[in-house]
Amino acid sequence: MPNCQLQTGNWKLVTATPVIIVGASAAGLHAACLLAGAGVPVYVLDERGGPAAAARTLIVTPRLRRALGDLPQEAIVNQTPVLQLFSPGAEASIRLNEPDWVVERARLMPWLIRRARAAGAEYVPGQRFVGLEPDHDGLVVHLESSTGRRESLIAHMLIGADGAFSQVAQAIRQVRPPSSAGAPPQTTRPNAQGHAAVYNLQARVALPAWARVDTTQVWFDPRATRYFFWLIPESRQSAVVGLIADDERSARAELGRFLAAHALQALEMQGGQVPLYAHNGAPEARIAGARVYLVGDAAAHVKVTTVGGLVTGLRGAQAAARAILQRTSYAQELGRLRRELDGHLWIRRVLNCFGPGDFDQLLRLVNGRAQRVLAARTRDEALHALLGALLAQPGFLLLAARAMGFHHGGRSLAEEIAPSRRTQDAESAGRQLPRNHPETTHNAEGRGD
Ligand SMILES: Cc1cc2nc3c(=O)[nH]c(=O)nc-3n(C[C@H](O)[C@H](O)[C@H](O)COP(=O)(O)OP(=O)(O)OC[C@H]3O[C@@H](n4cnc5c(N)ncnc54)[C@H](O)[C@@H]3O)c2cc1C
Repeated sequence: MPNCQLQTGNWKLVTATPVIIVGASAAGLHAACLLAGAGVPVYVLDERGGPAAAARTLIVTPRLRRALGDLPQEAIVNQTPVLQLFSPGAEASIRLNEPDWVVERARLMPWLIRRARAAGAEYVPGQRFVGLEPDHDGLVVHLESSTGRRESLIAHMLIGADGAFSQVAQAIRQVRPPSSAGAPPQTTRPNAQGHAAVYNLQARVALPAWARVDTTQVWFDPRATRYFFWLIPESRQSAVVGLIADDERSARAELGRFLAAHALQALEMQGGQVPLYAHNGAPEARIAGARVYLVGDAAAHVKVTTVGGLVTGLRGAQAAARAILQRTSYAQELGRLRRELDGHLWIRRVLNCFGPGDFDQLLRLVNGRAQRVLAARTRDEALHALLGALLAQPGFLLLAARAMGFHHGGRSLAEEIAPSRRTQDAESAGRQLPRNHPETTHNAEGRGD
């Protein structure tokens, strides 16, 4: 049976107002499940015509099980207990106390839909949200069906879980333009939803002979991306190889070079924009007496270190469900998640200042006393991991201070995480083969601290 109960207490139902959720993906379906499980009438709409979702291989921490309370075996395609990190001149390896999970989104979504429906939510496919407007009766939500039929309904509770290009977020911004006071300055123009974004691109490939089925590999090469490349094994037969880049064009160019350098052939491509969390206010609005909440990618609840948004999106959905059920403040319910996301923002700020030598130094430090801490803490516990790693290895602090002092030049946090010219600069800077390419691995160095 589905487990759709909030795990932090036995919540008393204080609202029976129907909740309209736009977006039947991870965040929206989790919110639907929690609310319906508490007895709230819930309608979860999606522009997609049915449960089938595009394939996307995701790597997540064991925190996923805590967020969902359960997990479908069919969606977990592999587990990787080893994380191997490479920089231009060093490498490090971490054996995780609890392995990461490799999850196929296309298998997870039908399970989440079944679970939300079993809890009592009404799943309505083939309905696209096209806008909203205030009315004296509440909020008028405009929808368009897949056959082109338009209809409107009155909502008093609306959750926007419609992803990176959230139309709900855009509609709120049009009705309630955000005040710039308190928001960090941004050097890149935010998109219509108000978020800076990056592009995640990955190719499914045959598992190369030099890769292991139990090991996720990550390459830091700031000449190509200020994020990283990865290889995530799905099985003994296949893996996905990808990167995060500032835009789709540079993602395609850099991934093409990476695949060629590793003699890998793309069998299938998966890609999309992912918004970057930027410590803006709580993603909610009150319009015509109705409450509107944003969750998941629509709220940019994404870790900006790894640009992973599945677990954090589920946590945001849980916070919104709690705020609705308890009539508490969404900002308050989001407190822990936002502190976690802030921790990732600070780590990203430092990483964005790193050059190739800094990544080499970072990996040498990882190989030392910090290894045990990093093995015990997941990427969904950034603050604990950071604190533990700094206590175990104060050298991280010196490295960060040196890198930031050298590159920072008084720029703001938002400027640090915004797309820089570094990717384009790499075009002209010339390139070397990635570190564990068969031609370069034999002279890897940099173990020990
Ligand atoms: C290539 C790639 C790899 C990634 N890898 C990872 C990873 O390894 N780990 C990780 O944690 N995260 C990863 N992410 C990010 C992760 O996929 C997202 O953060 C997460 O899926 C967001 O879920 P969501 O439910 O908020 O939004 P989405 O999954 O984007 O769902 C939005 C839903 O809203 C619907 N919708 C949109 N507009 C409308 C509308 N107007 N009306 C009605 N319905 C609408 C859509 O059809 C969709 O079903 C990756 C992203 C990409 C692109």
